[in-house]
Amino acid sequence: MMGALTDRFGRHHTYLRISVTDRCNLRCTYCMPEHGIDWTPPQQILQTDEIIRLARLFVSMGIRKIRLTGGEPLVRRDTVDIVAALAKIEGLETFAMTTNGIGLAEEAARLHEKGLTTLTVSLDSLRRERFQAITKRDRFPDVMKGIEAALAAGFAPLKINIVVMKDVNDDEILDFVAWGRNKLVDLRFIEYMPFPDNHWSPGGLLPYAEIRARISEHYQLLPVVGDASAVGKEFTLAGHIAHVSFITSMTESFCGTCNRLRLTADGNIKSCLFHPAEKNLRDVMRAGGSNDELAGLIAAAVQAKPAAHPPVEELIHVENRAMIAIGG
Ligand code: SF4
Repeated sequence: MMGALTDRFGRHHTYLRISVTDRCNLRCTYCMPEHGIDWTPPQQILQTDEIIRLARLFVSMGIRKIRLTGGEPLVRRDTVDIVAALAKIEGLETFAMTTNGIGLAEEAARLHEKGLTTLTVSLDSLRRERFQAITKRDRFPDVMKGIEAALAAGFAPLKINIVVMKDVNDDEILDFVAWGRNKLVDLRFIEYMPFPDNHWSPGGLLPYAEIRARISEHYQLLPVVGDASAVGKEFTLAGHIAHVSFITSMTESFCGTCNRLRLTADGNIKSCLFHPAEKNLRDVMRAGGSNDELAGLIAAAVQAKPAAHPPVEELIHVENRAMIAIGG
Protein backbone atom coordinates (compact mmCIF):
# COMPACT_ATOMS: atom_id res chain seq x y z
CA MET A 1 0.00 0.00 0.00
CA MET A 2 3.10 2.24 0.25
CA GLY A 3 3.15 4.89 -2.56
CA ALA A 4 -0.62 5.19 -2.52
CA LEU A 5 -0.25 8.46 -0.62
CA THR A 6 1.91 10.11 -3.29
CA ASP A 7 -0.19 12.32 -5.54
CA ARG A 8 0.04 13.32 -9.23
CA PHE A 9 2.38 16.19 -8.28
CA GLY A 10 4.84 13.98 -6.44
CA ARG A 11 3.73 15.12 -2.96
CA HIS A 12 4.12 12.39 -0.32
CA HIS A 13 1.35 12.59 2.26
CA THR A 14 2.75 11.67 5.66
CA TYR A 15 0.56 13.83 7.93
CA LEU A 16 -3.06 13.04 8.81
CA ARG A 17 -5.31 15.42 10.75
CA ILE A 18 -8.13 13.52 12.44
CA SER A 19 -11.15 15.50 13.63
CA VAL A 20 -12.69 13.55 16.51
CA THR A 21 -15.74 15.83 16.93
CA ASP A 22 -17.44 18.86 15.36
CA ARG A 23 -18.51 20.12 18.78
CA CYS A 24 -16.78 22.87 20.74
CA ASN A 25 -17.16 24.81 23.96
CA LEU A 26 -16.15 28.07 22.27
CA ARG A 27 -17.69 29.98 19.35
CA CYS A 28 -14.69 31.64 17.69
CA THR A 29 -15.86 34.08 15.03
CA TYR A 30 -13.30 32.93 12.42
CA CYS A 31 -14.27 29.28 12.84
CA MET A 32 -17.89 28.87 13.88
CA PRO A 33 -20.60 30.46 11.72
CA GLU A 34 -22.66 33.04 13.64
CA HIS A 35 -25.81 30.90 13.37
CA GLY A 36 -23.90 27.75 14.39
CA ILE A 37 -23.86 24.57 12.36
CA ASP A 38 -26.05 21.49 12.17
CA TRP A 39 -24.20 19.25 14.56
CA THR A 40 -23.49 15.78 13.22
CA PRO A 41 -25.69 13.26 15.10
CA PRO A 42 -23.53 11.20 17.51
CA GLN A 43 -24.20 7.94 15.70
CA GLN A 44 -22.72 9.42 12.52
CA ILE A 45 -19.50 10.46 14.27
CA LEU A 46 -16.63 7.97 13.98
CA GLN A 47 -16.57 5.62 16.93
CA THR A 48 -13.35 4.99 18.85
CA ASP A 49 -12.63 1.62 17.24
CA GLU A 50 -13.29 3.09 13.79
CA ILE A 51 -10.80 5.91 14.42
CA ILE A 52 -8.20 3.41 15.62
CA ARG A 53 -8.76 1.12 12.61
CA LEU A 54 -8.44 3.99 10.13
CA ALA A 55 -5.38 5.44 11.89
CA ARG A 56 -3.66 2.05 11.71
CA LEU A 57 -4.53 1.76 8.03
CA PHE A 58 -3.24 5.26 7.22
CA VAL A 59 0.02 4.56 9.07
CA SER A 60 0.41 1.30 7.15
CA MET A 61 0.03 3.39 3.97
CA GLY A 62 2.78 5.85 4.96
CA ILE A 63 1.35 8.38 7.43
CA ARG A 64 4.00 9.26 10.05
CA LYS A 65 2.32 12.14 11.86
CA ILE A 66 -1.22 12.33 13.24
CA ARG A 67 -2.84 15.41 14.73
CA LEU A 68 -6.15 15.20 16.62
CA THR A 69 -8.43 18.17 16.08
CA GLY A 70 -12.13 19.02 16.41
CA GLY A 71 -14.22 21.18 16.92
CA GLU A 72 -12.55 20.86 20.29
CA PRO A 73 -11.08 17.36 20.84
CA LEU A 74 -11.27 17.57 24.63
CA VAL A 75 -15.06 17.95 24.63
CA ARG A 76 -15.25 14.33 23.40
CA ARG A 77 -15.32 12.12 26.49
CA ASP A 78 -13.00 9.32 25.23
CA THR A 79 -10.30 11.46 23.61
CA VAL A 80 -7.66 10.44 26.17
CA ASP A 81 -8.45 6.77 25.42
CA ILE A 82 -8.09 7.49 21.69
CA VAL A 83 -4.72 9.10 22.45
CA ALA A 84 -3.61 6.05 24.44
CA ALA A 85 -4.56 3.69 21.59
CA LEU A 86 -3.10 5.72 18.72
CA ALA A 87 0.15 6.36 20.58
CA LYS A 88 0.82 2.61 20.41
CA ILE A 89 0.63 2.43 16.60
CA GLU A 90 3.99 1.30 15.26
CA GLY A 91 5.44 3.65 12.65
CA LEU A 92 3.77 6.77 14.06
CA GLU A 93 6.59 9.28 14.67
CA THR A 94 4.73 12.43 15.75
CA PHE A 95 1.43 12.48 17.58
CA ALA A 96 -0.09 15.89 18.11
CA MET A 97 -3.28 17.62 19.17
CA THR A 98 -4.74 21.09 18.66
CA THR A 99 -6.97 22.29 21.48
CA ASN A 100 -8.52 25.51 22.73
CA GLY A 101 -6.87 24.77 26.06
CA ILE A 102 -10.01 24.79 28.22
CA GLY A 103 -9.69 21.14 29.29
CA LEU A 104 -5.89 21.12 29.61
CA ALA A 105 -5.60 21.99 33.28
CA GLU A 106 -7.23 18.61 34.01
CA GLU A 107 -5.89 16.55 31.09
CA ALA A 108 -2.40 17.82 30.13
CA ALA A 109 -0.47 15.44 32.37
CA ARG A 110 -2.55 12.41 31.30
CA LEU A 111 -2.24 13.27 27.60
CA HIS A 112 1.52 13.47 27.99
CA GLU A 113 1.68 10.23 29.96
CA LYS A 114 -0.49 8.42 27.35
CA GLY A 115 1.95 9.31 24.59
CA LEU A 116 0.92 12.57 22.97
CA THR A 117 4.18 14.17 21.79
CA THR A 118 3.16 17.63 20.59
CA LEU A 119 0.48 20.07 21.71
CA THR A 120 -0.91 23.21 20.12
CA VAL A 121 -3.19 25.65 21.95
CA SER A 122 -5.31 28.20 20.08
CA LEU A 123 -5.25 31.65 21.73
CA ASP A 124 -6.14 34.82 19.83
CA SER A 125 -5.98 37.43 22.59
CA LEU A 126 -4.21 38.05 25.90
CA ARG A 127 -7.04 40.31 27.03
CA ARG A 128 -9.97 38.67 28.83
CA GLU A 129 -12.68 40.90 27.40
CA ARG A 130 -11.36 40.62 23.84
CA PHE A 131 -11.01 36.86 24.26
CA GLN A 132 -14.69 36.83 25.14
CA ALA A 133 -15.56 39.00 22.15
CA ILE A 134 -13.78 36.62 19.75
CA THR A 135 -14.90 33.32 21.36
CA LYS A 136 -18.29 34.35 22.71
CA ARG A 137 -17.33 32.68 26.00
CA ASP A 138 -15.66 34.00 29.17
CA ARG A 139 -13.06 31.20 29.46
CA PHE A 140 -9.77 33.11 29.24
CA PRO A 141 -8.59 32.17 32.78
CA ASP A 142 -9.20 28.47 32.02
CA VAL A 143 -7.13 28.64 28.83
CA MET A 144 -4.24 30.37 30.60
CA LYS A 145 -4.35 27.74 33.37
CA GLY A 146 -4.37 25.08 30.63
CA ILE A 147 -1.27 26.56 29.01
CA GLU A 148 0.59 26.54 32.34
CA ALA A 149 -0.48 22.91 32.89
CA ALA A 150 0.72 21.91 29.41
CA LEU A 151 4.14 23.50 29.96
CA ALA A 152 4.36 21.85 33.40
CA ALA A 153 3.43 18.47 31.85
CA GLY A 154 6.43 18.73 29.53
CA PHE A 155 4.89 19.78 26.22
CA ALA A 156 7.81 21.87 24.94
CA PRO A 157 7.94 23.78 22.77
CA LEU A 158 4.23 24.36 23.28
CA LYS A 159 2.74 25.74 20.06
CA ILE A 160 0.40 28.71 20.40
CA ASN A 161 -1.82 29.34 17.36
CA ILE A 162 -2.83 32.99 16.94
CA VAL A 163 -5.20 33.89 14.09
CA VAL A 164 -4.33 37.49 13.23
CA MET A 165 -7.40 39.52 12.22
CA LYS A 166 -6.85 43.14 11.19
CA ASP A 167 -8.58 45.65 13.46
CA VAL A 168 -9.60 42.79 15.78
CA ASN A 169 -6.40 41.57 17.49
CA ASP A 170 -3.46 42.69 15.33
CA ASP A 171 -2.58 45.33 17.96
CA GLU A 172 -1.55 42.44 20.22
CA ILE A 173 1.17 40.94 17.99
CA LEU A 174 3.96 42.48 20.07
CA ASP A 175 2.09 41.71 23.32
CA PHE A 176 2.16 38.01 22.37
CA VAL A 177 5.89 38.17 21.65
CA ALA A 178 6.53 39.95 24.96
CA TRP A 179 4.33 37.40 26.78
CA GLY A 180 5.99 34.35 25.23
CA ARG A 181 9.57 35.39 24.52
CA ASN A 182 11.04 33.67 27.58
CA LYS A 183 8.75 30.68 27.54
CA LEU A 184 9.27 27.33 25.77
CA VAL A 185 6.68 28.22 23.17
CA ASP A 186 6.40 28.57 19.41
CA LEU A 187 4.16 31.59 18.72
CA ARG A 188 2.45 30.80 15.41
CA PHE A 189 0.88 33.82 13.72
CA ILE A 190 -1.73 32.55 11.24
CA GLU A 191 -3.08 34.55 8.30
CA TYR A 192 -6.87 34.84 8.52
CA MET A 193 -8.44 32.35 6.09
CA PRO A 194 -11.89 32.49 4.48
CA PHE A 195 -14.43 29.82 5.41
CA PRO A 196 -18.22 29.87 5.07
CA ASP A 197 -19.75 32.59 7.27
CA ASN A 198 -16.58 33.43 9.16
CA HIS A 199 -16.72 37.19 8.48
CA TRP A 200 -13.63 37.00 6.30
CA SER A 201 -12.93 39.98 4.03
CA PRO A 202 -9.77 41.10 2.20
CA GLY A 203 -9.61 44.03 4.63
CA GLY A 204 -9.42 41.65 7.57
CA LEU A 205 -6.33 39.89 6.26
CA LEU A 206 -3.04 41.17 7.66
CA PRO A 207 -0.34 39.72 5.40
CA TYR A 208 2.58 37.75 6.81
CA ALA A 209 5.05 40.38 5.56
CA GLU A 210 3.32 43.02 7.69
CA ILE A 211 3.14 40.81 10.79
CA ARG A 212 6.83 39.95 10.44
CA ALA A 213 7.79 43.59 9.85
CA ARG A 214 6.08 44.69 13.06
CA ILE A 215 8.02 42.09 15.07
CA SER A 216 11.31 42.83 13.32
CA GLU A 217 11.11 46.45 14.41
CA HIS A 218 11.75 45.23 17.97
CA TYR A 219 13.28 41.78 17.70
CA GLN A 220 15.80 39.97 15.52
CA LEU A 221 14.20 37.00 13.79
CA LEU A 222 16.64 34.27 12.74
CA PRO A 223 15.26 31.67 10.29
CA VAL A 224 15.13 28.03 11.36
CA VAL A 225 15.81 25.63 8.49
CA GLY A 226 13.26 22.89 8.98
CA ASP A 227 11.16 20.25 7.24
CA ALA A 228 10.30 21.42 3.69
CA SER A 229 6.67 20.39 4.10
CA ALA A 230 6.28 22.22 7.39
CA VAL A 231 3.35 24.63 7.34
CA GLY A 232 5.03 27.37 9.38
CA LYS A 233 7.94 29.64 8.46
CA GLU A 234 9.85 29.32 11.73
CA PHE A 235 12.30 31.73 13.38
CA THR A 236 14.21 31.97 16.60
CA LEU A 237 13.94 35.21 18.55
CA ALA A 238 17.52 36.35 19.08
CA GLY A 239 18.35 36.57 22.78
CA HIS A 240 15.17 34.80 23.84
CA ILE A 241 13.86 31.22 24.24
CA ALA A 242 10.67 31.34 22.20
CA HIS A 243 10.30 30.64 18.50
CA VAL A 244 8.00 32.60 16.20
CA SER A 245 6.34 31.07 13.14
CA PHE A 246 4.13 32.37 10.38
CA ILE A 247 1.42 30.42 8.57
CA THR A 248 1.08 32.19 5.25
CA SER A 249 -1.57 30.25 3.32
CA MET A 250 -3.16 33.38 1.87
CA THR A 251 -0.17 35.45 0.72
CA GLU A 252 2.57 32.81 0.32
CA SER A 253 0.76 29.48 -0.02
CA PHE A 254 2.68 26.26 0.63
CA CYS A 255 0.57 23.88 -1.46
CA GLY A 256 3.59 22.75 -3.50
CA THR A 257 4.99 20.84 -0.54
CA CYS A 258 1.68 19.87 1.07
CA ASN A 259 1.85 16.54 2.92
CA ARG A 260 -1.52 16.78 4.69
CA LEU A 261 -4.71 14.76 4.52
CA ARG A 262 -7.77 15.17 6.72
CA LEU A 263 -10.27 12.75 8.21
CA THR A 264 -13.46 14.49 9.22
CA ALA A 265 -15.40 13.57 12.38
CA ASP A 266 -18.11 11.97 10.24
CA GLY A 267 -15.60 9.74 8.48
CA ASN A 268 -14.75 11.51 5.21
CA ILE A 269 -11.29 11.73 3.78
CA LYS A 270 -10.65 15.30 2.65
CA SER A 271 -7.45 15.68 0.57
CA CYS A 272 -7.31 19.47 0.70
CA LEU A 273 -8.46 22.00 3.33
CA PHE A 274 -9.95 24.29 0.70
CA HIS A 275 -11.26 21.72 -1.79
CA PRO A 276 -14.82 20.42 -1.35
CA ALA A 277 -14.10 16.89 -2.66
CA GLU A 278 -14.46 14.18 0.02
CA LYS A 279 -14.92 10.39 0.11
CA ASN A 280 -16.83 8.68 2.91
CA LEU A 281 -14.94 5.86 4.63
CA ARG A 282 -17.33 5.44 7.60
CA ASP A 283 -20.19 3.88 5.63
CA VAL A 284 -17.86 1.50 3.80
CA MET A 285 -16.48 0.34 7.14
CA ARG A 286 -19.97 -0.04 8.62
CA ALA A 287 -21.06 -2.02 5.54
CA GLY A 288 -18.26 -4.51 6.24
CA GLY A 289 -15.79 -3.07 3.72
CA SER A 290 -12.22 -4.41 3.80
CA ASN A 291 -9.05 -2.43 4.45
CA ASP A 292 -8.18 -2.84 0.78
CA GLU A 293 -11.47 -1.17 -0.20
CA LEU A 294 -10.77 1.67 2.24
CA ALA A 295 -7.18 1.99 0.99
CA GLY A 296 -8.51 2.19 -2.55
CA LEU A 297 -10.79 5.10 -1.62
CA ILE A 298 -7.96 6.85 0.20
CA ALA A 299 -5.62 6.42 -2.79
CA ALA A 300 -8.31 7.74 -5.15
CA ALA A 301 -8.79 10.82 -2.96
CA VAL A 302 -5.06 11.46 -2.99
CA GLN A 303 -4.92 11.11 -6.80
CA ALA A 304 -7.77 13.61 -7.16
CA LYS A 305 -6.11 16.20 -4.92
CA PRO A 306 -5.72 19.61 -6.57
CA ALA A 307 -2.27 21.12 -7.11
CA ALA A 308 -3.09 24.14 -4.95
CA HIS A 309 -5.91 26.16 -3.45
CA PRO A 310 -7.39 28.79 -5.77
CA PRO A 311 -6.47 32.46 -5.39
CA VAL A 312 -8.19 34.22 -2.50
CA GLU A 313 -10.71 36.06 -4.65
CA GLU A 314 -11.97 32.69 -5.92
CA LEU A 315 -11.52 30.91 -2.59
CA ILE A 316 -14.27 32.93 -0.92
CA HIS A 317 -16.76 31.41 -3.37
CA VAL A 318 -15.69 27.79 -2.89
CA GLU A 319 -18.41 25.47 -1.48
CA ASN A 320 -16.79 24.11 1.66
CA ARG A 321 -17.50 23.02 5.20
CA ALA A 322 -17.24 25.51 8.01
CA MET A 323 -13.81 25.46 9.64
CA ILE A 324 -15.27 23.85 12.78
CA ALA A 325 -16.44 20.86 10.74
CA ILE A 326 -12.96 20.32 9.26
CA GLY A 327 -10.65 20.93 12.18
CA GLY A 328 -8.24 23.26 10.43
S1 SF4 B 1 -4.78 24.44 0.57
FE1 SF4 B 1 -4.83 22.24 0.21
S2 SF4 B 1 -3.04 21.80 -1.04
FE2 SF4 B 1 -2.75 23.83 -0.17
S3 SF4 B 1 -1.58 23.48 1.67
FE3 SF4 B 1 -3.74 23.49 2.28
S4 SF4 B 1 -4.39 21.36 2.18
FE4 SF4 B 1 -2.46 21.53 1.07
